[in-house]
Amino acid sequence: MHDYSAIREEVAKLCAQYPGAYWQAKDKAREYPSEFVAALGEAGYLAALIPENYGGAGLPLSAAAAILEEIQRQGCNGGAVHAQMYVMGTVLRHGSEEQKARYLPKVATGELRLQAFGVTEPTSGTDTLSLKTVARRDGDDYVVNGQKIWTSRAEHSDLMILLARTTPREEAASRTEGLSVFLVDMKEALAAGSLTIRPIDTMMNHATTEVFFDNMRVPAANLVGEEGKGFRYILSGMNAERLLIGSECIGDAKWFIDKASAYAKERTLFGRPIGQNQGVQFPIARAYAQMRAAELLVHDGIAKYEAGENVGAEANMAKMLAAEASWAAGEACIQTHGGFGFAAEYDIERKFRETRLYQVAPISTNMILSYVAEHVLGMPRSY
Ligand SMILES: Cc1cc2nc3c(=O)[nH]c(=O)nc-3n(C[C@H](O)[C@H](O)[C@H](O)COP(=O)(O)OP(=O)(O)OC[C@H]3O[C@@H](n4cnc5c(N)ncnc54)[C@H](O)[C@@H]3O)c2cc1C
Repeated sequence: MHDYSAIREEVAKLCAQYPGAYWQAKDKAREYPSEFVAALGEAGYLAALIPENYGGAGLPLSAAAAILEEIQRQGCNGGAVHAQMYVMGTVLRHGSEEQKARYLPKVATGELRLQAFGVTEPTSGTDTLSLKTVARRDGDDYVVNGQKIWTSRAEHSDLMILLARTTPREEAASRTEGLSVFLVDMKEALAAGSLTIRPIDTMMNHATTEVFFDNMRVPAANLVGEEGKGFRYILSGMNAERLLIGSECIGDAKWFIDKASAYAKERTLFGRPIGQNQGVQFPIARAYAQMRAAELLVHDGIAKYEAGENVGAEANMAKMLAAEASWAAGEACIQTHGGFGFAAEYDIERKFRETRLYQVAPISTNMILSYVAEHVLGMPRSY
């Protein structure tokens, strides 16, 4: 796979302007890293996957993966920006020509932020087909009522991709039909008072929220693709998302491993570096091996994705293994640093909290194992 060393170098240079102290201050204040997001946007990285005819860079998934991996590897937090890169994929793949021409060029320049993704709901969680938010057709509009939870970056987004039920479950043609995707103009809905956003205080600085729809009108022109086929459209973006999140986890793992091995070499106790003790070396070496194995699967998934293959199995497994590898590396890094691993100024505890998310979101490990059990190994369906 192309390693995009020139892009990585440039990303690393940009990230150097946002050192640990910047992230610690944002983390403490639970503030969105607007300056970092703006800088990445201005440099064009967030438009990597948007085709050139819509003003983007038209790069393949492997380039976007390299950008996100590098952001994490440099100690920054891609969680603030990654969705601006890939949420637009739903519009790109399933939107009308008019929707693409209207929105994508502005998403490419950053004039419009399309980085809110409203799928998860409090009562349905992982069981997406049970979601309760309803969109009812009324003349030229749909009227939306319901609630989403964990809608990240909603306060920092102009547009939201929303999944809502348009046909009652019992009347839908099949189990997976009856849900539709909408492109919601959040600023308009906020001004109309039909959308409310409430931040959720979480263990890391992730700008996540719950959102409430109260007779929110969405023009029928903002329905993406066909009514009732939304679940399939959402699924179609998940493999790319998983591979990108996997790449971020690889970046995190490399950051932890670099920090841990450097510290093990320099911290001297009992007259020798702590890294001379195999008890200190081995967890770091093991985390490195885990990271490399996961990285190979991430790369395999990306290569197959770019070749047009169905990578459901690779994308799921790669994301799971990469998230476990970053966690193992974080664990080794904290342990190597002893008490200093817990001091905010070392930045390790922040990254440790941030990387934990990826074993739960955007899909939790059990769901991945269940996918592998059923779709790869042919075992009976469990739900
Ligand atoms: C910080 C953060 C940001 C997020 N951002 C977004 C976002 O922007 N947009 C969005 O739509 N969602 C977002 N999410 C939601 C995320 O995708 C979900 O939290 C995740 O998919 C798990 O769903 P849940 O929290 O409802 O857990 P639940 O579905 O309630 O599951 C709870 C636990 O039970 C397990 N479980 C459930 N059913 C089974 C089963 N049949 N077999 C075995 N185990 C099972 C799950 O694996 C999980 O461990 C975010 C979440 C967080 C925490």
